[in-house]
Amino acid sequence: MENIFGENTKRLGFGLMRLPELSESGKFGKIDIELTKKMVDHFISEGFTYFDTAWMYCESKSEDAAGEALVSRHKRDGFTLATKLHCGFFNNEEEREKIFETQLEKTRVDYFDYYLLHDLGEDHYKKYQKFGCFEWLADKKKAGYVRHMGFSYHDRAELLDRILTEHPEVEFVQLQLNYLDWESEAIQSRKCYEVCVKHSKPVIVMEPVKGGTLSNVVPAVERLFKEHSPEMSVASWAIRFAASQPNVKMVLSGMGNMAMMKDNTGYMKDFVPLNEEEMELIKQATNIINSSIAIPCTACEYCVDGCPKNIPIPKYFSLYNAELQEYEGKGFTPQKEYYDRLAETHGRADDCIECGKCEKICPQHLPIRKNLKLVASKFS
Ligand code: SF4
Ligand code: SF4
Repeated sequence: MENIFGENTKRLGFGLMRLPELSESGKFGKIDIELTKKMVDHFISEGFTYFDTAWMYCESKSEDAAGEALVSRHKRDGFTLATKLHCGFFNNEEEREKIFETQLEKTRVDYFDYYLLHDLGEDHYKKYQKFGCFEWLADKKKAGYVRHMGFSYHDRAELLDRILTEHPEVEFVQLQLNYLDWESEAIQSRKCYEVCVKHSKPVIVMEPVKGGTLSNVVPAVERLFKEHSPEMSVASWAIRFAASQPNVKMVLSGMGNMAMMKDNTGYMKDFVPLNEEEMELIKQATNIINSSIAIPCTACEYCVDGCPKNIPIPKYFSLYNAELQEYEGKGFTPQKEYYDRLAETHGRADDCIECGKCEKICPQHLPIRKNLKLVASKFS
């Protein structure tokens, strides 16, 4: 099977979804473009080439940042760029075309190396089918605007099998894959990965550290990793786990600062897959974390915009998880203060009117309404 990512390509991709911000507004209106440029330059100077953006990332500013920090400053054959079409942003073929043209303008490229239909699952698959998006994308490829076509996926393995059977023209799949979700029945990382292997589709990994969850692990897991390799970061274990799967050709990391960039590029420059002993440690870590994470939210924020009560759902879940992971006997914990500050400008957890909009869009299929009740009982 031809490796469409290149035989010698380094397996770390710069995910442009959590770019550094200039202010602490909580909005992505102000990307720190100067820092982004430095991070892009460092990434390329270390021999990495893959960049991943999307129409909706950073409140629709990520593609512009890719144009400014990457494309206008580096040789076109020195990097590859991936972006995506999300079915939530068009309702007819003209609107879809307009998005594609705007993406070319924003990113300042003549073609995309990789183009994905964004966030496939049962509902979105229907819409992409209804508008003939697979055929549309294949036409873009024929016309030279796209080099390789794929999709990102958040649903059950069974449906993935069906989609890849119905669309053998797809060249790669982007999956949520990390050691915590590997055996999860809700996310089905392993099962989805195995479906891709069955269909000979290379995998790009998103959420290797599960939105930061696997870089902020409970102290027992941190100890486990640090005792084995004191110099390695906790996050490195998660990224190396994903990159160690033989059919994984690229692991995306949404790097938001230079420290993260230097850490990731350091151990991924000459990547060595995890050995048996290290895989065993990962299993132990998974068991410990699974017994301590209450709400496995990845902080993708897809649920936030549509909430009629303006509830910062992922932030509340993160606070709730953090509260439960505090070790006993610590005394003061800061989470309640953060909650109260957020609630001054947003809806409180118990403001939820249970409309269910958020649950329809959540790629992790979380029972958000039920979880908000837990949050409310803890902090309100
Ligand atoms: S169910 Fe609650 S949290 Fe979800 S969108 Fe509706 S009001 Fe917001
Ligand atoms: S609740 Fe679901 S949609 Fe909302 S941020 Fe968490 S994982 Fe994303």
